[in-house]
Amino acid sequence: MQQLNEMDIQPEMVNFIALSHMHSDHVGAAKEFKQATLLIQQPEFEAAFTNVADFPIFDFSVYKELENNKRQILNGDFDVFGDGSVKILNAPGHTPGHQVLLLRLKNYGPLLLSGDLYHFVKSRELKAIPIFNIDAAQTLESMEKIEGIITSEKASLWIEHNLALAKTLNLAPEFYD
Ligand SMILES: [Zn+2]
Repeated sequence: MQQLNEMDIQPEMVNFIALSHMHSDHVGAAKEFKQATLLIQQPEFEAAFTNVADFPIFDFSVYKELENNKRQILNGDFDVFGDGSVKILNAPGHTPGHQVLLLRLKNYGPLLLSGDLYHFVKSRELKAIPIFNIDAAQTLESMEKIEGIITSEKASLWIEHNLALAKTLNLAPEFYD
């Protein structure tokens, strides 16, 4: 929230929120965006909200307020603005409805944000399945799908848990466009 404040962005100015998945370390301050529409894959919604007792890996107390948000349930890839500039790509396996984000930025170019498809550069090299993972076969399929898109889009890949990468990026209030 402090980073958004520094950019003069108030939570009510944000129309959509989408989380790669509902693990606690990725849900962050999402509950601050009370008026935003939550874009979430159907299997993720069911696991994290409807059947959460069956998925102890999710900590409902961290994101329970999101139950009150407007939501758009997704079943697969989704072009958020209809112009290809922001695309949610269905990449299940790490969690039932894990998703990654493809941005086509004018100046920076195509950029893919990994979610937890990979935790580290090494995980990508080794196609390593994370320890906390729902479905290994699905994770491998998702890796193959997303690698294909990275290649065809000539996209940069930012692995979000890669601290060395984060240290090289222009973090908020700096930005990429
Ligand atoms: Zn995770």
